[in-house]
Amino acid sequence: MHRNLSKAVVMLALAALVLTAGTAFAAGTLTMGTNAEFPPFEYVEGDAVVGVDAEIAAEIAKDLGLELVIENMAFDSVIPALVSGQIDIGVAAMTVKPERLNSVDFSKTYYNARQACIVRKDGGVTDGETLYGAAIGVQNGTTGDYAAEEYSETIERYAKALDAVLELAGGKLDAVIVDAPVAQNIIDALGDDNLILLDNIAFEDEFYAVAIPKGKPELVESINQTIDRITQDGTLDAILLKYFPATEEAE
Ligand code: GLN
Repeated sequence: MHRNLSKAVVMLALAALVLTAGTAFAAGTLTMGTNAEFPPFEYVEGDAVVGVDAEIAAEIAKDLGLELVIENMAFDSVIPALVSGQIDIGVAAMTVKPERLNSVDFSKTYYNARQACIVRKDGGVTDGETLYGAAIGVQNGTTGDYAAEEYSETIERYAKALDAVLELAGGKLDAVIVDAPVAQNIIDALGDDNLILLDNIAFEDEFYAVAIPKGKPELVESINQTIDRITQDGTLDAILLKYFPATEEAE
């Protein structure tokens, strides 16, 4: 009887574990949080969120046998949503930063980017020197935001990088600092010849990874296996080529 009792206790404990962990994978889904204002990594097309990260997340969900659900939110809400359990993973062109590791865990990295500085050809910012003290636009809470703090106290923070670039184009800002692949994408999309990227400021390497709530080593391991698989079998290259068709930026 005792044995049965302890078995029952173990079963109950297991059920509780599955329930708590299971809220994450409610109804066989994997919920990804992202800010779909960051082409080509994530953006809205019709009713869907598409882009490099959406496709990587689809591979992760496939390997886990779960259906991918995407929640679109502000970039600076992604980490809080992971911490509160609202989402299972954050795939948002998110750079691995020591400060972020205090709140979440990261998978292996899947992309190497840097910041870029967009300016107007007819504006006054031409290099790192002239960027000091300039009015810089950024996307709130991003590594571009942190980079801007090194140069100026006049920082305008936007929910979308695109809005910052529009303000720059309209003359309200002197520069925008945002991830290089996205900067190029926005410039191309706007087709404004007066907007250029400065190539003479040495920003640091940044590595994107999937953010995962703390305390889920199996999930981290599974995501790492998917990243290994898609790196080795050519899927990641194919995804990058699809979204960066004309460049060698895929790494
Ligand atoms: N890579 C930058 C960061 O992690 C920007 C990400 C984003 O805006 N989606 O802060």
